[in-house]
Amino acid sequence: MTSTTPDPRILPFLEISEPGYPGRFLELGVEQEELPGGGVTLYGRCPRCEASLRVALPSDLVKDASQGPPEGGASDAETHVAIVCTCSACEHVGRPAQYDSGCGAYWVLDIAEEDE
Ligand SMILES: [Zn+2]
Ligand SMILES: [Zn+2]
Repeated sequence: MTSTTPDPRILPFLEISEPGYPGRFLELGVEQEELPGGGVTLYGRCPRCEASLRVALPSDLVKDASQGPPEGGASDAETHVAIVCTCSACEHVGRPAQYDSGCGAYWVLDIAEEDE
């Protein structure tokens, strides 16, 4: 038997963030669904274990990004969102008891203001 690529779904749990994660996350395909009551749900895949993820973004966060800079406040057009892997179908050994999901990967996504 020759060695094969290890299945990412059985990687050991590891709290890790790599510079390539945000790009990889987008590369794997992300779908965005706007919620009627405000807020956005992202459907994507973990850049580490490739599990399907559903990420809910709070409405005030999204509102900030879409309503422009607040009066006299910061004029930062980008919003940063920290995303943590919340996979539940994987078998990541060594996951601490306080987590009931995820492989430990986390990354920060920039949500830029967009007009489409
Ligand atoms: Zn993961
Ligand atoms: Zn996983």
